[in-house]
Amino acid sequence: MSEGTAINQDAGTLGRRDETRVFAVANQKGGVGKTTTTVNLGAALADLGLRVLVVDLDPQGNASTGLGIEARNFDVSIYDVVLRDVPLEDCIEPTSIKNLFVAPSTINLAGAEIELVPAFSRELRLRRAVDRVRADYDYVLIDCPPSLGLLTVNGLAAAGEVLVPIQCEYYALEGLGQLLRNVELVRNSLNPGLEVTTIVLTMYDARTKLADQVVEEVRAHFGGTVCQTVIPRSVRISEAPSFGEPVTVHDPSSRGAIAYRELAREVTHGRRPA
Ligand code: ADP
Ligand code: MG
Repeated sequence: MSEGTAINQDAGTLGRRDETRVFAVANQKGGVGKTTTTVNLGAALADLGLRVLVVDLDPQGNASTGLGIEARNFDVSIYDVVLRDVPLEDCIEPTSIKNLFVAPSTINLAGAEIELVPAFSRELRLRRAVDRVRADYDYVLIDCPPSLGLLTVNGLAAAGEVLVPIQCEYYALEGLGQLLRNVELVRNSLNPGLEVTTIVLTMYDARTKLADQVVEEVRAHFGGTVCQTVIPRSVRISEAPSFGEPVTVHDPSSRGAIAYRELAREVTHGRRPA
């Protein structure tokens, strides 16, 4: 079958609203807005009164620092959960935002791609950890690294849904086939329920014709899976992490904050009419 088999065009009207929704935020391209979307969607969902856990699965730790958490300051991180069987709850930290929690990562997670290779049930280590805490949360957002290695496989195996950020730029669709094939592989071998439910267009610049072309192309290709809400390119969004804050805290009335709040409503309620 085509790449489209992993896509659920009706995801917005289905939903697992009475259960915890676990999203892997994935795209093997770097710099497309995975971490930014994890942090800001997480914060916006928490503002709606939902209990949210951000799992930082990227050795860069940008989701942790973006939420004001220095993983270095703590004894355990997601590395210990994935490699040392430390319970996930032992590494979860509260953030300054009510209802928003983070399982932080540190650079030693970079070794996990290699260290996991000989590990027992190496693809399912995060899933087992998440399964033990998921009942405590309404949403779990897993910020995957920019690769399709074992860490991302762990993220996909632990999730029910995949959220794919796509940057509104040239080559936006490049590499997506590979991501969707990996989702399909994980579906077939590890996690039959996994679906790409949510595609988020990021860094949209209204001044460029190209951005509109990308939006059109992505909508034509992926249909209803693509969120109506488009995240604008905004300086406020890009500077917020240096304050250790989501944009919804850094500048709540900015366009970026408004967009992420809209995205949160769309994700929770299904799509708005086009
Ligand atoms: P990824 O996690 O996919 O590598 P990031 O979320 O870290 O991507 O984003 C890459 C860079 O782009 C970061 O410097 C981030 O601050 C910036 N960025 C992300 N989204 C936006 C946006 N909507 N407007 C402006 N800058 C953005
Ligand atoms: Mg990132």
